[in-house]
Amino acid sequence: MPRTILPVKLHEQLTVTVDDIRIDGMGIVNITPTYPLYVADALPGEKITIEVTQVDKFSGYAKVLQRLVASDQRQNSDRQYLIDAGTAPLVNLKYQAQLDLKQTQVQRLFAQRGLDVTVAPTIGMADPTYYRNKTIVPVKWQNGHLTSGFYRRGTHDLVPMTDYFVNDAKIDQAIVVVRDILEKYQISAFDPDRQTGAIRYIMIRRGYYSHELMVVLVSNDATIPHEADVIAALRAELPELKSLIFNFSPKKDFVLLSPNNRTLWGEDAIHDTLLGYQFVIGPNSFYQVNPQTTEVLYDLAAQKAQLQPTDTVIDAYSGIGTIGITVANRVKQVLGVEVVPGAVADAQHNMRLNGIQNATYLLADAPEQFKIWEAAQLQPEVVFVDPPRRGLTSELIQATVDMGPERLVYISCNPVTLARDAAEIVQKGYQIEGPVQPVDQFPQTSHVESITVFKKNF
Ligand code: SAH
Repeated sequence: MPRTILPVKLHEQLTVTVDDIRIDGMGIVNITPTYPLYVADALPGEKITIEVTQVDKFSGYAKVLQRLVASDQRQNSDRQYLIDAGTAPLVNLKYQAQLDLKQTQVQRLFAQRGLDVTVAPTIGMADPTYYRNKTIVPVKWQNGHLTSGFYRRGTHDLVPMTDYFVNDAKIDQAIVVVRDILEKYQISAFDPDRQTGAIRYIMIRRGYYSHELMVVLVSNDATIPHEADVIAALRAELPELKSLIFNFSPKKDFVLLSPNNRTLWGEDAIHDTLLGYQFVIGPNSFYQVNPQTTEVLYDLAAQKAQLQPTDTVIDAYSGIGTIGITVANRVKQVLGVEVVPGAVADAQHNMRLNGIQNATYLLADAPEQFKIWEAAQLQPEVVFVDPPRRGLTSELIQATVDMGPERLVYISCNPVTLARDAAEIVQKGYQIEGPVQPVDQFPQTSHVESITVFKKNF
């Protein structure tokens, strides 16, 4: 085998033009048609001098040394630390340009799949800052202090951060309060170098309408010293606190939270309102992080579904039942499917909370459940799917087509898998109806949420 000759060398300096932006917000410089370099804080069209910092077989990384020609869409956010943290990689791109970029990305991904569709302008936020209702941040003892912030890329060096710019400001404040109380009681924190220590993350959720606050202490150890004192201090200093949870999540077994929760104080979950409906949200349940645009998103998805009072509707990847519960009063029945047990329990609770009697939430793998429904000759009129980033499976698409709903409403948080799935759905006899609609659920980041409606063509 001849050794592959890579088109760049480590530490090489080059002057280049930025071609594109990757999904994580890094600029893409195509050194050759098949060898990209990824560069933080580099916007399409900019002419920059870079230094190559990492060379892998199929791609590499570089950093900007000098910006020779800046994009006219660049703004100085004065928040370079957010670029370093990777939490708001588009913060230096003007907001209208962020919205345009997301629209273009969706358009291009569909076109690459041979699908000629119209993509509507991205619906954005009036104020695209301090919008997230949830965050989870690592903590570490450094220089005698408990520090909260972010790990510098590829290191165990925790960079302090208190203004995240995208979180509800009350959440940012609560992180500092929790951190300082843990520091006061000298609670140990997980040390990634030694792989020992207790608290790994502080997770906070806050209801947008309810203002109810949930604090989750995610720990590598099964217990927390000075438990009673910590609880009393948190209660005293966080007047909005409704739910204080201890999540035992040993490092090697779990990425973030484990299912192992113990309520230290208050309720097991918090409540919030969405489109006028009440929702209970537990620590492990998925709940859309941008409550303001989620209302726009779900309202549009329901309109585009053209629901009728006689419809049977599937709500797949249903989380805590948000989509199904908000449409149940307009249809005959809702059947939901979700794989996380706590979320299904929340969905059932949420039905009761809202007096909904025509919905059923099942704990199952969605593709498996679709096959069961198809075999039972279920004939839904509308199917909503809202899958995680990996998108749908061929089995689920086939079972959907076999059930033959009039409309399939696909809410996607990843346009790459959306376009892939769309090609398969169209090939199997559905057509895309109306424009694809991106909705900016994640301002300052390059994540793209969108709604696509497929109509039966047979
Ligand atoms: N529709 C909900 C949740 C969307 S997020 C809302 O908007 O609030 C995607 C959901 O899919 C998560 O709740 C996740 O737990 C669930 N999920 C992931 N894989 C699944 C699978 N194979 N089968 C069913 N649900 C799954």
